[in-house]
Amino acid sequence: MTATDTPTFAARVSDALGGALSLVFPTWCAGCDAPDVPLCAVCRGALAVDVRTRTVDGLTVWSALAFEGIAARVVRAAKEEGRTTLLRALAPALRDAVGHAVGAVSTRPARAITLVPIPTSAAAMRRRGYRVVDSICRHAGLPAHRLLIARGRAADQRVLDRAQRARNVAGAFTAREAAGRTVLLVDDVVTTGATLREAAAALRAAGATVLGAVTVASTPRKGIDTATDR
Ligand SMILES: [Zn+2]
Repeated sequence: MTATDTPTFAARVSDALGGALSLVFPTWCAGCDAPDVPLCAVCRGALAVDVRTRTVDGLTVWSALAFEGIAARVVRAAKEEGRTTLLRALAPALRDAVGHAVGAVSTRPARAITLVPIPTSAAAMRRRGYRVVDSICRHAGLPAHRLLIARGRAADQRVLDRAQRARNVAGAFTAREAAGRTVLLVDDVVTTGATLREAAAALRAAGATVLGAVTVASTPRKGIDTATDR
């Protein structure tokens, strides 16, 4: 090996450190299980935004990704496996979906619209220690305003069917400081839409105008999906 082939000291340290870290903190791609990366380039590419809309009781919902395949694996890993580094990877999808929604619903400047995250339940906060939606908003550079407060303790939506979900979250939220505001709701995944419907009702009752909702992902089929939870 000639002198010019010799890796720099910094590169050698970096390689050694990377190797050591992967021994101490083994990681793998959340989308495909490839070793030593939290999210490989191919799977990152699979998070390309393809904004779709659906309507839940008159509420338009813009979603950046279909909740299936790689996107679903990444969202689940970010939510349920504590892999918070993935929250940043989901931020561009949310930012794009918010951009679509703002462009579609309002001629006013984006700053006149208040983004309101669906609150994390107390149980989920205890389990995870972080707020998924708020964190993705922060990584996306989107100001989130916590105007909604979770009321009481709803059961885990994952185990419920559509009708049970609706009953479970009925009256689940109250809103504060919402009067006169024009808002878009923000959530990670829309499944039946029961949660978004209740959140919108609480905000309207408190005097807000609800333009719709934006989510990172949307379950592509009707009915329930047991994959994820508040
Ligand atoms: Zn991958």
